Amino acid sequence: MKILKGLSASVGIALGKAGLYSLDDYINIPHYKIPESQIDNELKRLNNAFLLAASKLENMVDRSRDLFGEEGKSIISAHLAILNDPHIKEKIEAMIKSRHINAEHALEDVFEDYIKRLTRHGLHFEEISHDVKDVRDRLIESFSQAQGRFTCPVNKKEGIIVVSERLTPSMLLHIPRENVLAFVTHQGGYTSHATILARSMDVPVVFGIDINQIDCNADMIVDGTVGTVHVWPDKKTLDRYIKKQEQQKKRKDFCLLKRKHPVQTKEGLRINLKVNISTMGEIDLLKKYVIEEETKGIHYDGIGLLRTEFIFMRGESVPSEEEQISIYRNILQQTSGKSVIIRLLDISPDKTPAFIEAMIKGKQTSDIRGARAIAMYKDVYITQVRSILRSAVHGQVKILFPMVADIDDLYIAKNLVDEAASSLKKEGKKFSLPPLGIMFETPSSVMLADQLLREVDFANIGTNDLLQYSVAASRESLTSQESYHIMHPSVVRMIEMVTRSGRQQGKEVCLCGEVSSFEQFYPVLLDAGVISYSVPVTKYEDIKCELLHISESDYKGKMEQYLTFLRLKDQNKYFEFNDKK
Ligand code: PEP
Ligand code: MG
Repeated sequence: MKILKGLSASVGIALGKAGLYSLDDYINIPHYKIPESQIDNELKRLNNAFLLAASKLENMVDRSRDLFGEEGKSIISAHLAILNDPHIKEKIEAMIKSRHINAEHALEDVFEDYIKRLTRHGLHFEEISHDVKDVRDRLIESFSQAQGRFTCPVNKKEGIIVVSERLTPSMLLHIPRENVLAFVTHQGGYTSHATILARSMDVPVVFGIDINQIDCNADMIVDGTVGTVHVWPDKKTLDRYIKKQEQQKKRKDFCLLKRKHPVQTKEGLRINLKVNISTMGEIDLLKKYVIEEETKGIHYDGIGLLRTEFIFMRGESVPSEEEQISIYRNILQQTSGKSVIIRLLDISPDKTPAFIEAMIKGKQTSDIRGARAIAMYKDVYITQVRSILRSAVHGQVKILFPMVADIDDLYIAKNLVDEAASSLKKEGKKFSLPPLGIMFETPSSVMLADQLLREVDFANIGTNDLLQYSVAASRESLTSQESYHIMHPSVVRMIEMVTRSGRQQGKEVCLCGEVSSFEQFYPVLLDAGVISYSVPVTKYEDIKCELLHISESDYKGKMEQYLTFLRLKDQNKYFEFNDKK
């Protein structure tokens, strides 16, 4: 038996077999038949691969000149010319349609034929064929990019412990939820968007593991509570974990009995408990966990954060106003009349829609957040706001602006709403002006909280970004995880400051960063004055259960106690804090 120690990103216990998942290029290009109904989808995949490969090459043109001079630039430009040759793409499309084969297979055959014909024409053309091969590989890479595959046969029916170097949002969209028991990775972060998605699947997630120690199909135990992974566990360990799993199930069942109670502490302090939604799949979970119970009298306080990026990441173009309206209306219809806080598109390095990727041409997405994104992609944002204002006629909608750093940013966002409203008015379209709020996720906004809160109707605190911009540690990278404590003392202080300011001005301030998914931190958060939370759907029941069991004596004075607690550079120490009460 091997015991590997990592960091827990999502709690729970999983027992099962390892499936090694690779995000690298395909070694063998997959060949399979597709039904007639899948042809359009396959053509879209092909188009996406061409777009992605082209945008990467375009980004490389200038860089290659800087690195290798004019010759370097001309090589990359030649690759781009091959890629942009319409005949190649048309041939691949025709082959997909006529032979009903997957896009990678068709691409391989068309390129093989092209390369063969070139090599027949002598040495010079043989050299060109190397460039053609390179373009082919780049395209193949674009298919597998961030999506990947299992590198050994796995029994999907039994469920798999997915072992991978890292997680990516597209990979998570690719592996069906029902096949996954847990995720174990080397790289990762508590609040990377991929982890947030994985957590929303309600499975344990452990990162920081040396995955080379794990063989494919090895028996494994993943303990997401303490962040350990057992490979080939012995009988005694296995029995201990089976027992633990049963106990956890019992606690869950006990909590379920309490689901009809409103969310409040033992003394009856009413807490607003909302949910974060980052995918359409979570809406289904919301119905399963929460809303069906609503009809039996359960209370939930709506969607506290709708991350709209998933709407923009589905295709290669900006969804139209009508398409967006139908998505927002659909969500409103499925949330039983509760309020839905829709956050405007928040572009960030790990969740960049393909159309933006193609447009930014070499710029860092971290440079175009918040108000700068609104200025750069005005049309995209106007369309989004127009569709929200029009959807607001059908339910309780609120608009949330991400990454507001100061009052100027806020005015830019507010002007956007005014502009969208006046265009709708001119066109005689029905719309409604929803309450407006901001995300506190930069230290700058926290320092200016009093001023900003006066200008809005409500606010959310986004601790995931707030932390990374406070302690200069990326939320994505394993190297900086040591400094990225999700309950860092500075963040606790900032949460308290914004909450106090909100209370003084009578504005609701809701905590929606990932800290709110950890039960352990609630005594400190309650003591900091937070009485509104938005949590991943899959954590709703657990958090509610925790709040129902908490009394004033559990949390009074906990914040100062926490802030003076030993600040070891060990995240697990922070998780242990609550056990010491
Ligand atoms: C945050 O930054 O805490 C937040 C909730 O937003 P996101 O995780 O989508 O960046
Ligand atoms: Mg954020």
